[in-house]
Amino acid sequence: MKFAITSKGDTKSNTLMHKMKTYLLDFDLIYDEEQPDIVISVGGDGTLLYAFHRYTGRLDKTAFVGVHTGHLGFYADWVPEEIEKLVIAIAKTPYQVIEYPLVEVIIRYQHGGRETRYLGLNESTVKAVDATLVMDVDIRGQHFERFRGDGLCVSTPSGSTAYNKALGGAILHPSIPAIQLAEMASINNKVFRTVGSPLVLPAHHTCTLKPVNKLDFQVAVDHITMLHKDVKSIQFRVADEKIRFARFRPFPFWKRVHDSFVAD
Ligand code: NAP
Repeated sequence: MKFAITSKGDTKSNTLMHKMKTYLLDFDLIYDEEQPDIVISVGGDGTLLYAFHRYTGRLDKTAFVGVHTGHLGFYADWVPEEIEKLVIAIAKTPYQVIEYPLVEVIIRYQHGGRETRYLGLNESTVKAVDATLVMDVDIRGQHFERFRGDGLCVSTPSGSTAYNKALGGAILHPSIPAIQLAEMASINNKVFRTVGSPLVLPAHHTCTLKPVNKLDFQVAVDHITMLHKDVKSIQFRVADEKIRFARFRPFPFWKRVHDSFVAD
């Protein structure tokens, strides 16, 4: 089996990364950063986001596992004290694969029929470059509302505990193939009106944002923010691809939610 390890870059994570690499090589696993079967992320959820984006080209062939060197992670459940156990599990145990949905983002531009496509593990957000974001929101090809406000966030179920939660979105179990559209500070008064509640869309529905006046937007996909000019539309849906996690023991989602947000 071929493996790769990504580290958050701090001393603790780097030390663990080197230790795990040595142990796994001792078990005759092959270190291959280009075509790994398993990617071990050492750090936090942010580190796993980086690892995901590095290997989006081979999601069907790569499984991820997370070791956290900070507080409990949503994507990283192993603690540094357990790495010997994890290494033995990786080397000796046929692991279970758990798949989580992703969000597909397609940005189409005004000229030349050009488009770009991205996959997000947590969410994609759209904000104006300056002033208020004004966009028409279509759902399944039908006009739904004209949004005016700070921005819109389209999250995956596993990303629903991240930015989406801060926006008052619901927490969705990652076994539900859906995306959630949440508003960032919409303008609501006698003149302007939006639904005001987060919307959960099933896998066969698309949500498309269309510019009303300005054509330049800041679009973020997870931790990556890009400026897009001359935008014609931004379309979101549940991606055909999924992220695959290597599971060696149960990692119940609601326990993670409880331990992260409820327990002291
Ligand atoms: P960051 O600003 O350094 O960290 C964002 C925080 O979100 C970290 O504590 C991270 O955990 C946590 N996180 C990431 N994914 C999560 C998930 N699925 N569920 C619960 N918590 C999660 O940024 P970053 O590390 O580059 O991560 C980018 C993410 O930041 C974005 O995808 C977005 O979700 C989030 N974000 C949140 C807000 C907000 O809540 N207002 C605003 C902007 C961005 P770790 O410490 O374990 O890495």
